Amino acid sequence: MTHDLIVVGGGPAGATCARKAVQLGLDVLLLEKAHHPRRKACAGYVTLRVRDQLDFDFSSVVEREQCGLRLFSPSGLVVENTREETTGFTVRREDFDYLLIKKAEEAGAEVLQGVKVVDVSEESDGVIVTTDDGSYRGGFLAGADGVNSTIARKTGIKPRWQDDEVVLCMEASVPMDPSDIERIFGGPNNRILTEIHFGALPHGYGWAFAKKEEISLGFGALISELKDLKGVWKTFVSDFEKRNGVKCDLSEVTAARVPLSGFIENTCSKKIMLIGDAAGCVSPVTGEGIYYSIESGKIAAEVTKEMLSGISGVSTRTYHRRCRDAFGKDLGVAKFLAGMMFHSIKSMELVCQMAHDDDVMNDYTFDMIMGLKSSKQSRNRMVKRMLRMHPLKAVRMVL
Ligand SMILES: Cc1cc2nc3c(=O)[nH]c(=O)nc-3n(C[C@H](O)[C@H](O)[C@H](O)COP(=O)(O)OP(=O)(O)OC[C@H]3O[C@@H](n4cnc5c(N)ncnc54)[C@H](O)[C@@H]3O)c2cc1C
Repeated sequence: MTHDLIVVGGGPAGATCARKAVQLGLDVLLLEKAHHPRRKACAGYVTLRVRDQLDFDFSSVVEREQCGLRLFSPSGLVVENTREETTGFTVRREDFDYLLIKKAEEAGAEVLQGVKVVDVSEESDGVIVTTDDGSYRGGFLAGADGVNSTIARKTGIKPRWQDDEVVLCMEASVPMDPSDIERIFGGPNNRILTEIHFGALPHGYGWAFAKKEEISLGFGALISELKDLKGVWKTFVSDFEKRNGVKCDLSEVTAARVPLSGFIENTCSKKIMLIGDAAGCVSPVTGEGIYYSIESGKIAAEVTKEMLSGISGVSTRTYHRRCRDAFGKDLGVAKFLAGMMFHSIKSMELVCQMAHDDDVMNDYTFDMIMGLKSSKQSRNRMVKRMLRMHPLKAVRMVL
């Protein structure tokens, strides 16, 4: 049997693509190598725009509502920004992704879990997907299998990531008593503040995101900048423990990669589209990927529907162009911002100093980190403000 669309990978990109495609009337098969609920190394920060883009209520998997951020500079300066309103949410990815895959199934997608895709071939009338449990035919394929995508490699669309395109992270889910969580992260109205730590390495930062009974503790940096990640990680954790008077159980620690090149130059062949992390749909400045993965999944489903309906001029390149226009260009701006802010420890310190000394800059910086404004909006107003109010620091940042 030939499916209209085969989706490889059941993370946010794949699950959304499958759900949207069946809603558009397509016959969809989703292949996922793990069994949900499965662990995924992630801070689990979900921005407000993710809530707005989902067509269902996800409050059942929200762990905490966030109302601001606490930023630690390389020299130890602490800069805070707290809001009256909710600025984002935290989730456990095992729960969030499980909900998304159930929503795809409920909508009518056929979901096979525990099936690993090992190869794919493209023919004039569709694709043949080979798994460790047989092969499947489809008209089109969406490669949603993450940063280590087999589809990207086997098709040659993105054979490998360069060291300056990928961050390597250490991430741990650390169980914690809710009373400790509230003491360390508590903000107004029963909501939480998130911690971001600059320093240790250029093009890298640490984080602590609170859930109900655990926190995500992590540190990552571009592979090209990495020196002694394990040593940096050890110091980061022990500083956290000393500052907060807690002991962290690190039995759930994972090393994972995040693509930070921005939307990649080519994401498709004639019948195949890469979506989500496989296509670099992550903000190079914040590491936010869930929103862009979902968006790319939706666009891939819509374009597949149009291709199968025979709408003239529509091809997989249409998918690429629509993603580029919807968010790819903004990820390019995010890459510029990341280059400016993170290229040295000194520039990271200057960013924190400006946010500390200037309330307007403080709001601009935190709006960007919390994903409340697009990268383009952030760049325009931050650069203007820096040039007007902090010209010497602006010059020092780029030197
Ligand atoms: C440490 C860390 C922290 C992060 N924190 C955040 C955050 O707080 N907020 C945010 O927005 N983003 C965050 N991100 C980024 C975010 O996790 C990703 O952008 C997002 O998960 C991408 O979704 P995806 O569906 O493309 O890929 P994934 O979520 O990686 O899903 C890919 C799926 O494909 C499956 N798969 C892989 N290979 C195969 C195969 N051969 N056959 C079948 N199935 C396969 C995998 O099992 C997996 O389920 C973080 C990433 C990391 C590593």
